[in-house]
Amino acid sequence: MESLKELYKIGRGPSSSHTMGPVKAAENFLKKNMNADKFKVELYGSLAFTGKGHLTDVALRQILGEETIIEFHYEIIYTYHTNGMKFFAYLKDEIIDEWLVFSIGGGSLKELDEPRNFNKDNLYKETSMQEILDYCSINKLNLLEYILKNEDNTFITYMEKIVKQMFATVEEGLSKEEVLPGKLQVKRKAKKYYENYLIHKLFSSLVFANALAASEENASGGIIVIAPTCGSSGVMPGVMKSFYDEKKYSFKQIVDAVIVGGLIGNLVKSNASISGAEVGCQGEVGTACAMTAAALAFLKGGTNSQIEYAAEIALEHHLGMTCDPILGYVQIPCIERNAISAMRAIDSANYSLLGDGKHLITLDMVIASLKETGADMHVNYRETSLGGLAKHIK
Ligand code: SF4
Repeated sequence: MESLKELYKIGRGPSSSHTMGPVKAAENFLKKNMNADKFKVELYGSLAFTGKGHLTDVALRQILGEETIIEFHYEIIYTYHTNGMKFFAYLKDEIIDEWLVFSIGGGSLKELDEPRNFNKDNLYKETSMQEILDYCSINKLNLLEYILKNEDNTFITYMEKIVKQMFATVEEGLSKEEVLPGKLQVKRKAKKYYENYLIHKLFSSLVFANALAASEENASGGIIVIAPTCGSSGVMPGVMKSFYDEKKYSFKQIVDAVIVGGLIGNLVKSNASISGAEVGCQGEVGTACAMTAAALAFLKGGTNSQIEYAAEIALEHHLGMTCDPILGYVQIPCIERNAISAMRAIDSANYSLLGDGKHLITLDMVIASLKETGADMHVNYRETSLGGLAKHIK
């Protein structure tokens, strides 16, 4: 597995696969073709179906120029990954360069048939949760110590920056009331829910408000932390900011917990997928919920087995969850789904901590099931806005 720095990244919403990945690809292509006088980008598969709602075209033109031609080719779907895009650079109407590249989730890019095992830097030798648990048991390490043993000495500073941004995103979201961009005219809810919390002091209201705040920031193109994607970026900040503010855990304890949660995201990313276009929302919000449940179990003093169980419970009960964003906007069901999953993460951690961590279905089994379920999932439910809730509003 790669460094957790490749999982947690600061960027702009609303979509890691549909805006951040394409922007990164456009920047790379532009750097290589500074002499070009015109660009064209063909968007394939899910990028074509929901590219407009996710603002892919707007993001690409911001990098390559307003005159850039964007073509939506719904009919072209590569089996390697649905989020294909082909860049063309022109000089005096002649093609001087072209590049086929895939945005495979979490802002990561791959070329056709490039191995997907995210093992380029090979920082982590263990590839499954069971291998990690065994290694920790032999070497008497907790999961945080295991991660820190694998990461470099800039890692903690990087993660402090990540958590600071999570908190800043929540605060930014809580300060706004306006309608979110796009045709749905969705009204922000976070500020109102937070005001309710201030009156009644119900902890769940704080968690809902904080998760909504981060997700609404994402939906409006604000600065967020990918955790593990943009669409699912409200769950971890929603829970961690609430525990920091109300339960008075220290900043260091929160950073350590977010680090431990990241391990779960890395395992799903490496062994299955965190891309809604590939496996549905189980890979996005499901993974975010599992990461957060693990983080919380660690924060509350759970053993390695209890942390694994918390993540397993959280992910297991998101299996099969589809991706059907209405009109392609990362708003409905995405924003409220983050808030509900934030509470589910807390429940999963609490549930796990009641026992001794022993259980039949392992996290590795659930990750394998997620991958298989995603592969069986009809294309209408994988970020194309052709089925599910998306079918009911056109
Ligand atoms: S439904 Fe889930 S996977 Fe699909 S865009 Fe929304 S958050 Fe992402």
